[in-house]
Amino acid sequence: MSNLNDIADWRNRIFESLLSVALTVGVITTIPILPFLIGQGLWPVVAADIAALGWIFAIRRLDHLTYSVRVLHFIGVVYAFSITLMLSIGAASLSFLLGPPVIAAIMLSLRPAMLALALGAVSLVAFGAAGHVALNVPGLEQQPFKASLVAALNYSSIGAMLVLICSTLLKGLSHSLADARGSAASLERSEATLRELNSELELTSAAVSRLNDMVIIARAVDREDLAQPIGFVNDAFLRRTGYARSEIVGRSLRVLVGPDSDPGVVEGIHAAMVSLRSCNAELLVYARDGAAFWVELHMLPFSRGGQSASHWVVVGRDITERRSAAEAIHRLAYYDVLTGLPNRRLLVERLDAMVAAAHAGTSLGAVLYIDLDNFKKVNDARGHATGDALLELVATRLTRVVRRQDTVARLGGDEFVVLLAGLGSETRAATQHALALADQIRGALAEAIEIMGQGYHVSASIGVALPLRSGQTAPDLLREADTAMYRAKADGRNGVALFETDMLADAQRALAIERDLALALENGELAMHLQLQVDHQGAPAGAELLMRWRRADGSMVPPDVFIPIAESSGLIVPLGQWVLREACRAWLALDAAGHPLSLSVNVSPLQFRQQDFVDQVKAVLRDTGAPPQQLIFEVTEGLLITDIDQTIDRMRELAALGIRFSIDDFGTGYSNLAYLKKMPLYELKIDKNFMRDAPHDANGTAIVQSILAMASHLGLRVVAEGIENAAQVHFLAAHGKPTMQGYLFQRPAPLEQLIDCLARAREPIPDRRAA
Ligand code: C2E
Ligand code: CA
Ligand code: CA
Repeated sequence: MSNLNDIADWRNRIFESLLSVALTVGVITTIPILPFLIGQGLWPVVAADIAALGWIFAIRRLDHLTYSVRVLHFIGVVYAFSITLMLSIGAASLSFLLGPPVIAAIMLSLRPAMLALALGAVSLVAFGAAGHVALNVPGLEQQPFKASLVAALNYSSIGAMLVLICSTLLKGLSHSLADARGSAASLERSEATLRELNSELELTSAAVSRLNDMVIIARAVDREDLAQPIGFVNDAFLRRTGYARSEIVGRSLRVLVGPDSDPGVVEGIHAAMVSLRSCNAELLVYARDGAAFWVELHMLPFSRGGQSASHWVVVGRDITERRSAAEAIHRLAYYDVLTGLPNRRLLVERLDAMVAAAHAGTSLGAVLYIDLDNFKKVNDARGHATGDALLELVATRLTRVVRRQDTVARLGGDEFVVLLAGLGSETRAATQHALALADQIRGALAEAIEIMGQGYHVSASIGVALPLRSGQTAPDLLREADTAMYRAKADGRNGVALFETDMLADAQRALAIERDLALALENGELAMHLQLQVDHQGAPAGAELLMRWRRADGSMVPPDVFIPIAESSGLIVPLGQWVLREACRAWLALDAAGHPLSLSVNVSPLQFRQQDFVDQVKAVLRDTGAPPQQLIFEVTEGLLITDIDQTIDRMRELAALGIRFSIDDFGTGYSNLAYLKKMPLYELKIDKNFMRDAPHDANGTAIVQSILAMASHLGLRVVAEGIENAAQVHFLAAHGKPTMQGYLFQRPAPLEQLIDCLARAREPIPDRRAA
């Protein structure tokens, strides 16, 4: 902008023009009038004209003088010229006298203008009073002083008016110009600031678009139900999500959330947005093609100077890799590799929470401890691949049965735990629910299973425990469910047992027995007793070896108590080997005493299934030199439940050595009669429970009769156990005359007592039989 804003500059320009105009007009008006002036002899006017023009010309040329000086000179010229005109042509030229004050007002200021006006007025009075000028005021023709005063007064008032108007106008103009200049300057300043800001903004936006982090700016909409429309996204966002900018701008931030985004986290973000708080979160978000990835989000509300937030700035970093690594570690730490189920660690964490909720009175839960029956056999017989497949199938079925909020965990091996949560606060209802679910689980597992073309039957024993006692911890509860599971197993497997407090005492007692039994053999607390078997005439026909445990304090532990514990703990295997050796030694001793009776030895299924069982038997026979033809192995029907072919093969192998086989407790268990023919059997033992009520009880009698009939059909010897009275003896004498074993003939006793008894039996024992 030029400096025309400046009033001084305007004055300068006006002054220059004024000088030019004055000169031009002066010359143009003077030249034609000069001959007339000269003709009239008006020499002073001529001189004044020429002097004035010359003076103006000089002022115009002397531009190095200051403005005020030049203006004063010019005013001087006009003044002198007007006085000269006044003196020479009179009142007709009076108007010239207005020139100096008006010019001074325009070109300089009010003060010199008033001085010039005063000078004009004084000159008018002075020249008028002296009579140099004829001022024709009607009525005052004779009084020139008064007339000049009137003229000066007129002159002064019109002059003052003009001067005031001009100077006020100019002052106002000058102020507006200053204002305009001021605002122009401030405009220029803001423009510069804006330019600076703009370039900063460009820099920032260039930086933002090149960031590796994703940046989203969304408009904050203050209504909760409305989506926050996206206004800006950077290149990193577009690259990672696959959206085009035009596709995403204007859409809601919610477009990023998908089915697996944690609803809790989404809720948290929503809550932060509603209350306009900044927040950080890790969230699974979705790209345009539906692929999910993890981002770490920082969201902050953006507001200008105290106003409520207008925008949300969201910065996101892709943390998928870190999350996957963390998840892999978490999976390994908390999940079972084979089945993908939670492992013991995660179970215990959830169990803690469940027990805490129960104790807080919020809601009861339940623990179901599940142990597959006979899984080890499948695993051993069919290999680990089959075992693994079976476990995976079981895992799937368990998961199918439970509700979403429940936990199915695998503790290892064939042990699973189901944690039921939120069963309400009513003990009875919660217990019933847990038991019903246990039954459902048994039902689901019972469905036929096929692995690699082979069919399998799965059953499970399930223990159920609920957090009903105060002070009960998570490990307590797990142990209780485990104890109940053992009860279910002891009750014949494939069942459900609810934990009761006395089970804990039982379990502890069993544990103590197991511990003591492990030491009993080397401490010499175990011994083998023998019980005689007689034929229908009362003649000795054999003897059964029965284990006895007398503790160091003299107390007896019944075999019905310690044998099942020895079986469940596996201790029966070393004990069984010892029994076999004792049997051989007993036979040799009997033989030496002149009683070469065949001896029956109880063989536990676990012992029989030992891979090297046949070798063990051979080794004992070789070591002792006892004849295998004198041994009868008593096995139970339980041995025939699984791997029947393998069992029969092994029996044949042992039979080939000369060993004979007897089925103990016949009729009490699972009897696959079709297999009886295939087995190298020698005898059946009728369980003492059937004999107890015979011959009075019709059922028992019928069973005994059919066993005897079947045995004769198969050509097998029969031994009737538990013979305590003569009625039983008479009944048996009338029905097939089987061999007999019972307290009536002899209670189980140490070898020496049996030898004594046999020695006495050399003489007939008629009194007893008659009794
Ligand atoms: P089991 O094989 O059925 O043994 C017969 C049981 O009947 C024995 O009980 C015996 O003492 C008892 N008994 C014999 N005559 C009578 C009688 O007239 N009336 C009554 N009420 N009972 C009679 P025990 O000695 O208590 O043995 C219990 C079970 O422990 C045996 O039942 C057997 O299964 C097991 N057992 C004992 N010794 C051994 C062993 O060395 N190895 C293995 N694997 N099991 C053994
Ligand atoms: Ca037996
Ligand atoms: Ca028996």
